[in-house]
Amino acid sequence: MSNNDYILNLLNIKDPNIYILNNIQEKIIKNKKYKLIEAILTYNPSHCPCCGVINESTADIIKWGFRKNCKIKIPKISNQLSLLILHKQRFFCKHCENTFIAETNIVDRNKNISNNTELQINLELMTKQSEKDIAKRLDVSVSKIDRKLNEISSHTVLRHECLPTSMNWDEFKATNDTKGKMAFMIVDNKKGNIFDINDSRKSRDLEKYFRRYSKKQRDKVKLISIDFYSGYIYLAKKLFKKANIVIDRFHIVIQAYNALNMTRVKLCYKSNPNYNKLKTFWKLIVKNENDLSDIKKYDNHFKKEVSQKDIVNYLINSDSTLKSTYECYQGLINSIKDKDFNKFKNIVFHKNNNISDKMNKVIKLYKDNIKYIENSFKYDINNGVIEGKNNLIKCIKRIAFGYRKYDHFVARVFLISGMIKG
Ligand SMILES: [Zn+2]
Repeated sequence: MSNNDYILNLLNIKDPNIYILNNIQEKIIKNKKYKLIEAILTYNPSHCPCCGVINESTADIIKWGFRKNCKIKIPKISNQLSLLILHKQRFFCKHCENTFIAETNIVDRNKNISNNTELQINLELMTKQSEKDIAKRLDVSVSKIDRKLNEISSHTVLRHECLPTSMNWDEFKATNDTKGKMAFMIVDNKKGNIFDINDSRKSRDLEKYFRRYSKKQRDKVKLISIDFYSGYIYLAKKLFKKANIVIDRFHIVIQAYNALNMTRVKLCYKSNPNYNKLKTFWKLIVKNENDLSDIKKYDNHFKKEVSQKDIVNYLINSDSTLKSTYECYQGLINSIKDKDFNKFKNIVFHKNNNISDKMNKVIKLYKDNIKYIENSFKYDINNGVIEGKNNLIKCIKRIAFGYRKYDHFVARVFLISGMIKG
């Protein structure tokens, strides 16, 4: 390997027509210290790009000086900002009397950012860091990164040929320029990744979105899992005739959980002698009763040794509504855990005397949607996938400090989750 090849290799430059000159300098440009690497670009052109004549001898094309000092941003060398000062060979064609400049694959024509740096921007966009940080690190402007995201979002593969056969619908708060307040997300349950994101969850907009797929395509959808939002149920029934609608377990449980919690909060008024205990032990009340410990430990609130079971027993017996609501909640969550739909149905349709108003409302919600709840006992859907994607979106939003442009936001969600290549 020649010295030149060796340096090109180190710089990750794959154009053998570049010759590094032996004077690497350091220079301050706009208050930033750069390593300057000087090189020339030259070769024997095969033909003239202006008239197409084949270059056979110096009677056809000759070298005609250089276009000097093209400054090209290249990736950092040993963590120091670097510029390639490239002198490009100029050629003269004797046939058409035009001149032309040598070209290289390390940088696109009329650009001053090397393709290696461009590639690096893409790679960095795929990791969880802010665009400002990327710009600073790669020594390019924030608007450069912005343009890159424009480019990516204009050719993203967000539009798919067909819909997933099993999907989950969910919403999240996105950017300020989102049409509705909430954006809509479709997760492919089988692949476990985000299928698409739409900038509105309004029925009218979603209908338009889904109608881009033919009826035949839509009829292939077997399962749609959602929360209790009635708009989704209506839409799923209208557009996906062959699909089973499932209310996912997470959303079923969270309803009862919130109802029990609010029933407890209502008892937390200052004059209640159990005020402090009800506030302190809230976690034990919503915990599955089968997971409560029997081990007695000294407790400051009770001034004696008590177990978790003792504490919960004491608290629920202090109020008859809390007790009934608690028992109802425990029955519900355990029937879900045991996948026992009959038990769940019995609790919902059995007369629940004395439960709180909040829990009553939840029971009514369950009754109205019992068909879709039953499906969640029948079909196994991985709710973890959905939670994971929500966390990813939260994380990106935190890094980006609130995206202004929805398209950029989506492009990055897809880049980071590996859905598209930059
Ligand atoms: Zn020519």
